[in-house]
Amino acid sequence: MDYRDKFLAEPGAKVRLPKIDPSYTGKDENHEQAHSQIQKHIARMDKLQYLLYADGSQSLLVVLQALDAAGKDGVIRHIFSGMNPQGTFVFGFKQPSKEEAAHDFLWRAHLHAPGKGEVVIFNRSHYEDVLVVRVHKLVPHSVWSKRYDLINDFEMMLRRNHTTILKFFLYISPGEQLSRFKQRLNDPSRQWKISDNDYSERELWSKYVEAYEDAIELTSTKHAPWYIIPSNHKWFRNLAVSQIIADTMDEMGLKLPPTHVDIAAVRRKFHAAEREEKDRTKGAKADGKERSKVREMHASAPARKE
Ligand code: AMP
Ligand code: MG
Repeated sequence: MDYRDKFLAEPGAKVRLPKIDPSYTGKDENHEQAHSQIQKHIARMDKLQYLLYADGSQSLLVVLQALDAAGKDGVIRHIFSGMNPQGTFVFGFKQPSKEEAAHDFLWRAHLHAPGKGEVVIFNRSHYEDVLVVRVHKLVPHSVWSKRYDLINDFEMMLRRNHTTILKFFLYISPGEQLSRFKQRLNDPSRQWKISDNDYSERELWSKYVEAYEDAIELTSTKHAPWYIIPSNHKWFRNLAVSQIIADTMDEMGLKLPPTHVDIAAVRRKFHAAEREEKDRTKGAKADGKERSKVREMHASAPARKE
């Protein structure tokens, strides 16, 4: 199954989240088989990231958005586990700092966008400025409603600068969220994830659904598509996201750059160095023998009286 086709939010099409089943797993998939498929996708991603870094002319931006406990952290931990930390960065969008709030809403997104050769994962993103900000009325309607166009222009600019953009909305049901909240509550190793506002945010579920529907509908574009991933089952979420990322990277036309040096000349230098190294080790061995002979003679000589 090609999950890029299946879960793409078609540019320009209406988005109605209640029509999507967050428990979907596809009839051909099962948990056991998925594990080896995910590992294969992860291995492809790692290989392609090596090429992206070596090639140094393009970049990849992965945007992760979701309601609480939908698994953004899990995706980062499982799927990006094999990528070389040299060239892969995660940036988490929290409540804006004083400095961030003093700038336009895209400033911090732009600041952390990937440079050439880099992969950047946004754990939440500039989309918070049309999600939490809209739901909590942190700015007036006249301000947030103009942000969709600004986001589209911003992402188009990144695209023109050779950044491939993938945006994932990890979609869970309220029931699944509650069962994950329960796990957090009962497992001391997860309690640190509990936030004071988990339940007040949950009460705003339908407002968030509206905000997500509009955001996805207005900003899913050919150059920066949204994928809505059924995420009640963690294994399926990881399978779909890893496949979509690997397939997209596959089509970026990444290849090893040509060498900038004269390989024949370097090969000659290498052979010369290799010969010198051999001579040096031979010389060192002979020296070593000479020194041990001297030591032996010294040891067998009768001790001198003072
Ligand atoms: P977490 O992802 O659980 O660490 O929480 C980060 C919090 O920061 C979430 O509640 C976000 O909604 C909030 N946040 C992120 N960006 C913004 C923003 N631009 N304005 C207000 N709150 C934000
Ligand atoms: Mg949270």
